[in-house]
Amino acid sequence: MREDLHRIDGEAVAAVEGGWLDNVEPATGAVYGRVAAGTAADVERAVAGARAAFPAWAATPAAERAALLDAIADGIESRLEEFARAESVDTGKPLALARSVDIPRAVKNFRFFAGSAMHDASEAHATDREALNYTARRPLGVVGLISPWNLPLYLLTWKIAPALATGNCAVAKPSELTPATASLLGEVCAAAGLPPGVLQIVHGRGPEAGAALVAHPAVRGISFTGGTVTGAAIARSAAPRFAKLALELGGKNPNVIFADADLDEAVAVSLRAAFANQGQICLCGSRILVERSIEREFVERFVAGAEALVSGDPLEEGVDQGALVSAAHRDKVAAAVERARAEGGRVLCGGAAPAGLPARCRDGFFYRPTAIAGLGQDCRTNQEEIFGPVVTIGAFDDEDGAARAADATPYGLAATIWTRDLARAHRFADRIRAGVVWVNCWLLRDLRVPFGGMKQSGVGREGGREALRFFTEPKNICVRFPHAPLEP
Ligand code: NDP
Repeated sequence: MREDLHRIDGEAVAAVEGGWLDNVEPATGAVYGRVAAGTAADVERAVAGARAAFPAWAATPAAERAALLDAIADGIESRLEEFARAESVDTGKPLALARSVDIPRAVKNFRFFAGSAMHDASEAHATDREALNYTARRPLGVVGLISPWNLPLYLLTWKIAPALATGNCAVAKPSELTPATASLLGEVCAAAGLPPGVLQIVHGRGPEAGAALVAHPAVRGISFTGGTVTGAAIARSAAPRFAKLALELGGKNPNVIFADADLDEAVAVSLRAAFANQGQICLCGSRILVERSIEREFVERFVAGAEALVSGDPLEEGVDQGALVSAAHRDKVAAAVERARAEGGRVLCGGAAPAGLPARCRDGFFYRPTAIAGLGQDCRTNQEEIFGPVVTIGAFDDEDGAARAADATPYGLAATIWTRDLARAHRFADRIRAGVVWVNCWLLRDLRVPFGGMKQSGVGREGGREALRFFTEPKNICVRFPHAPLEP
C-alpha cells in the first residue's frame, strides 16, 4: 500500500499526531494508499524549519539557486514515467495526458524560474540630477503554497519554483486527494541537494493543515489556487495580519465562435477546451457561445466529436476521458446536470456515466462528456462553476450580444474567441473582462505572461515577472547625488 509522508527538513515524516487519511484511486474507487493527515502541529514544525533555513537560502547566490532548480528539473525528468503514472493513478486523468502535459510542465516550471533567477533585473529612477532611486527586491521569508487536485504537480511547482528562485523558503500543501507527485518531488529535491527546510511539504486536509498554514503568523505570503469560496476564507484569515496574497480562483469561461471562424479548428479545439482532464481545468471553456447562423452545424459537429471521445481506464492507451477525482465530485457534477435539466436544458450528449468500462473500473468515478443547450446565461448552470465534463451551448446574433453573454457571470478568468476578422478579435478581446483571452487557440501558454483572473476569479497574477514580484518585497532606496554644477 502506498504511503505519502510529509517532507520536513529534508526527511520523510509521519504526522505529529499520527493520523492518516485514505487515498482512493478514482479509476477504481478503491483505497490504494494512505496519506499523512497534517494538522497545525505539522505546520508548526514545517514553518519552524523553513524559518531556520531562510537566512542561508536567501543569501545563497542566484546562480547556485538556479543550479539547484535545474537539478530538480533534471530529477523529475529522469523519473518522468514514474511521476506520470503516479499522477494518473492519483487523479484519474489519462496517463498519456500526465506524460505529455502535467509532468513536462512541472519540469518547465523549474527550468523557467531557474533562468529567471539569473536574468531578473530591478528598476532605477533618476530624479532629475538630484538623486537616484533604485529598487531592491528581497524575498518575503516563509511563504505558504496551496494547490488543488486537478493539475497537482503542474500547479504546485508553478508556485514552488518562483518562490525558491527568489530566495524564499516554502511550506507547500497539496490537495490531500492527490498527494503522490508532491511526495515524489520531496524525494527529488532531497536527492538534488536542496538544503533541508527550503521546501517543506505538509499533506492533509484544507480546513486543518491548509487553514493552519494560512493563519500562521510567520507565513509572510500565501499563494493559493483553488475554489472561490475557499479563496474568500483564506483572504479573511490572512488579510488582518497583512500577509501578501495571490489567489487564483474559479472560472466559468466563455468560448465565443463567430460565423467567420475556421470551423474545423474551432470544433476540434473547443472539444479539448471543454473536456480535457475531464473538464477539470479552471481554464476550460465551459460556456460555448456560437453565432446563430452556424449554430446548427457547430452543434452537430461538436456533439459528434464529444460522443467519439473514449472513456476508459486512464492507464490504457487510446483513452481520452479518465475518471473524475472523487465520488463526491462525480456526484456534484451529476447533480449539476440534473439541475440543468430542471432549469429546462436539453442534454445533447452525455448526461450519464459511461457504459462498457473495463472490469477494473466498474466502481470508478466516471462521467460522459456532456453538452447542454436551451439555457439562458442567468440560470445557475451558466453562473456556477461545475468543474467537470459539462458545457452549455448558446447562440448569439451580433457582437454586442456575444459580449454581453460572455461577461454575464461573476467570474473573469479566461475567454476564447474564434474569428478570422483581426479587427474584431482585438475589439472583442479588449471588451471582455477576463485575465486571459485566447484568439483562435486555447491553453497556449507562454510562461512569461501574466496569469490570473478578474472579478471573482482572483486577485494577483502568477507567471514570469509577476510571480517574481509577488514573492519579493520592493524597497526604494533613494541616494542624493553630490551637488554637481549643471553643464553649460
Ligand atoms: P478547493 O478550494 O476546495 O481546494 C484547493 C486547496 O485548498 C486544496 O489543497 C484544499 O485542501 C485547500 N483548502 C481547502 N480549504 C482550505 C482552507 N480553509 N484553508 C486553506 N486551504 C484550504 O478547490 P478544489 O481542490 O476543489 O479545486 C477546484 C477549484 O480550483 C475550482 O474552483 C477551480 O476553478 C480552481 N482552480 C483554479 C485555478 C486557477 O488558476 N485560477 C486552476 C485550477 C483550479 P483539500 O483538498 O484538503 O480540501
